Amino acid sequence: MSLAVVNPRTGEADYSIEPLDEAAIATVASRLRAGQGAWAARTAGERGAVLHRLAEAIGRHRTALAAALIADTGRAAISKIEVEAMIRALQRWADSAPGIIARAEISDRQTAIPTITASTRLVPYQLIGIISPWNFPLTLALIDAIPALAAGCAVIVKPSEVTPRFMRPLAAAIAEVPELADVVALIEGDGATGAALIGQVDFIAFTGSVATGRKVGEAAARAFIPASLELGGKDPMLVLASADPVKAAETALRASVLNTGQACQSIERVYVAREIAGPFLEALVNGAKAVRLNHPDVNAGDIGPFIFARQAEIVQAQIDDAVARGAKLLAGGQVETLDGGKYLRPTVLVDVTPDMPIMAEETFGPVIPVTLFDSVDEAVTHANSGIFGLSAAVIAGTVEEAEAVAVRLRAGGVSINDGSLTGLVWEAEKSSFGASGIGPSRMGDSGLLRFFRKQALIRQSGAALPLAAYSEEALSG
Ligand code: NAD
Repeated sequence: MSLAVVNPRTGEADYSIEPLDEAAIATVASRLRAGQGAWAARTAGERGAVLHRLAEAIGRHRTALAAALIADTGRAAISKIEVEAMIRALQRWADSAPGIIARAEISDRQTAIPTITASTRLVPYQLIGIISPWNFPLTLALIDAIPALAAGCAVIVKPSEVTPRFMRPLAAAIAEVPELADVVALIEGDGATGAALIGQVDFIAFTGSVATGRKVGEAAARAFIPASLELGGKDPMLVLASADPVKAAETALRASVLNTGQACQSIERVYVAREIAGPFLEALVNGAKAVRLNHPDVNAGDIGPFIFARQAEIVQAQIDDAVARGAKLLAGGQVETLDGGKYLRPTVLVDVTPDMPIMAEETFGPVIPVTLFDSVDEAVTHANSGIFGLSAAVIAGTVEEAEAVAVRLRAGGVSINDGSLTGLVWEAEKSSFGASGIGPSRMGDSGLLRFFRKQALIRQSGAALPLAAYSEEALSG
């Protein structure tokens, strides 16, 4: 049965996908399992050459891919950047994977037993399942798929049913690289398709919400396969008394509302030192009010519509609840429907309390609740409250002062004197804390190495011992 897909700028269902059922997924999985042996038998350098050809093919399809992503997300510039960034990610992994693998493999070494040496080789998992969300459709469909392919795995990708239009141009690009025909597949479908995929693969790499991540983690445990879970956040930003309040406000605004706040690494709570709260809030509110919607022209403005209309309802409900409980709105606050799209101007709130959903749950919208603090200890306690631990930010007069506070935060990545830097750098390895995820870092060398199992080859050059050598008498004598 087809699934209708809604356009975020019009509210119209103008596209549809054909979800694969369990039997069809099993057929794809067995084709890819059959193809993976030859792929893994190539050298890392040969696989890299193929990934370079995929980068070139995506380059040839960049216009169609960007157009599909613009229709998927309602934003233009970030869609084009997504395509270029994935081309660079392919080139980067293609070039770096051979060295990372060579450094991680351990050649024959002497053990503590004189006649025994051992080496460790890396064996890729055969088939990786990728399940991805709607906020960066292309990036999050490929961010794990590329290193998995570089490792020698086959990959099935199940992107979000909310933003699937990019899949067909991407499949057209992949089809231009015949070596990939039997090692990568994109499958259309919703949650049921994702759930069925888990039963077919050897490793699941999931990006999405905590609620779905928990289901995926449970299903992976039942299937006895590893799950890498990259989940949501409620990222705090701490603005210390030594910070420049106007610059800090600019950074807080950008890190909170970029991409309409629909980024896992968005700043969702700001704690500011009372001494500088006045100029900070003034600059934040002025900046928030100056932000332009990219309506009616998708190519002009600062932020786009909500990609997923249901998210607009969640965000509005959090704002209304906060206001009903005494929070004060200094900017924004009301979702607007323009030509069928749902937009929210940057929303600044003060007088919020930790028990409000807007302070405890993921918002995923352009909303900045601000809390004043009197001591750094109090700010750290606030920042470390709640179930999440994805990322955080600290702004102070010097990097050193900010860093001394950063190390006290319970978060996988902390931006120092900036915000949301985890979305910009790929080299910095990080693990999620708390409910924000489980599994090795997807960034840095670990992003590749997690797709291997280690196999030890242990060589006996002397005589293998008989059972008698382990008898009660022999061992006690
Ligand atoms: P979601 O959890 O609703 O859906 C994610 C994917 O899971 C979709 O492809 C969906 O079809 C699939 N799915 C749904 N039910 C499933 C099931 N039972 N079994 C298997 N798959 C299932 O998330 P979303 O709303 O699409 O995305 C937004 C969330 O993603 C936010 O919480 C955001 O913070 C998070 N996110 C995290 C990161 C990160 O790196 N940590 C990056 C981007 C987004």
